[in-house]
Amino acid sequence: MPDRSTIFALSSGRPPAAIAVVRVSGPRAGIALEKLIGRLPEPRKAALARVRDPASNEIIDEALALWFPAPHSETGEDIAELQLHGGQAVIAGVLDALAMVEGCRPAEAGEFTRRAFENGRLDLTAVEGLADLVAAETQAQRRLAFRQLKGLIGDRAEAWRRRLIEALALVEARIDFSDEADVPEDLLGPALHAAQQLRDEIAGVLADGRRGERLRDGLVVAIAGPPNAGKSTLLNRLARREAAIVSPYAGTTRDVIEVHLDLDGYPVTLLDTAGIRDSAEPVEQEGVRRARERAAAADLVLWVIDPSVGGLAANGYPENLADAEIWLVRNKIDLAGNSTCANATEPDNYECKFTLSISALTGIGMDVLTAALSAYAKTYFAATESAVITRARHRHALEETVAALDRALARDYSTDEELIAEELRAAATTLGRLTGRVDVEDILDVIFRNFCIGK
Ligand code: GDP
Repeated sequence: MPDRSTIFALSSGRPPAAIAVVRVSGPRAGIALEKLIGRLPEPRKAALARVRDPASNEIIDEALALWFPAPHSETGEDIAELQLHGGQAVIAGVLDALAMVEGCRPAEAGEFTRRAFENGRLDLTAVEGLADLVAAETQAQRRLAFRQLKGLIGDRAEAWRRRLIEALALVEARIDFSDEADVPEDLLGPALHAAQQLRDEIAGVLADGRRGERLRDGLVVAIAGPPNAGKSTLLNRLARREAAIVSPYAGTTRDVIEVHLDLDGYPVTLLDTAGIRDSAEPVEQEGVRRARERAAAADLVLWVIDPSVGGLAANGYPENLADAEIWLVRNKIDLAGNSTCANATEPDNYECKFTLSISALTGIGMDVLTAALSAYAKTYFAATESAVITRARHRHALEETVAALDRALARDYSTDEELIAEELRAAATTLGRLTGRVDVEDILDVIFRNFCIGK
């Protein structure tokens, strides 16, 4: 291990707060702690301690101190942790005192996690899981992130990689030692069988309908429809806050407004699209263009109309909604005559799964709409519990692995041993890249462990 600096940072949120956590990681963490509190507490046991400025000996605060000696710490290095009173001056005093300790410097963003990765405490997918856990807004996202942090995909990829390396070792042995009498002839059979099994397993994980990625990104619901139909009013009611400017003049919502909702634990992103209509005004045209684009990529479109206003085709509606499910939302039913008005029906060419009647202004029918949205989200996210892949990076790496295995399996094994080995090596490398652990040396290790070549 290279000689490293010792890093420190405020690890808790923005002060002032009841408590602030300052962490120190690196070879001089123990020395730093001794300088500040005069001793090293028993490992992993909280100790009450006076924190002093080492220069002036002035007491800065009274804190809980924790000592986690390497390697059994989060970063794999020595870690000291102080739980201080979370005031601005307390924190500044402690950080200044730490900066005075030789070999200590403020940590860069993500540096603690980076050290955990470099010391093998976390693989790359766990690092990503940790990032997702901190960013998770709903319980379903939290569950998925936590499982990823705990090796949901990382452990699996590592196990696949190990099996691949064993298969590769068989092929390599056959190539290198085929003229030796004590190496069994039929090494390729079991190797290819293992490769086929791996290929099918990984392909099975890939065929998940992108549930994990969807859960990470959330269900996208676009609120669309002609200007003044009440889209912004509906968004505000759903979001229960004033996220969009509600205005009685047509064409005021000039951009796409995005609101994140937690619907029974599931993440839903609501989009209020600009009043979609043809306009000569450039700013509004841009809004309309973006609105069409976002609405086209949505999973579900709430098509809001004011039934008292004439035919929909006259107002225009977004093209390319082919992938999204559309619900027709008849708004303003609080107005006399609107609840029975048969004037406007579904947008031409589109089949609306649902027709709902609401008043975004007074709240009539909102309970039915909210319940329908919750049910939709639940169905949409059903089976996310079994999702393994949460990012395009994972999918890409696994797709590459399957492709390499397919190429290996398509070879003529009686003549193309070298090429088969090459593809298996490529597949193992992609898996290694997924977890961030590429190491070719271990292929040789397996050869010499599994085969008593003895020379
Ligand atoms: P948008 O252009 O589709 O976003 O429409 P807005 O949400 O800005 O609403 C346009 C106008 O219709 C505003 O004056 C709203 O107060 C009004 N409005 C919206 N929903 C309702 C409703 O359910 N009932 C009534 N009476 N007025 C509504």
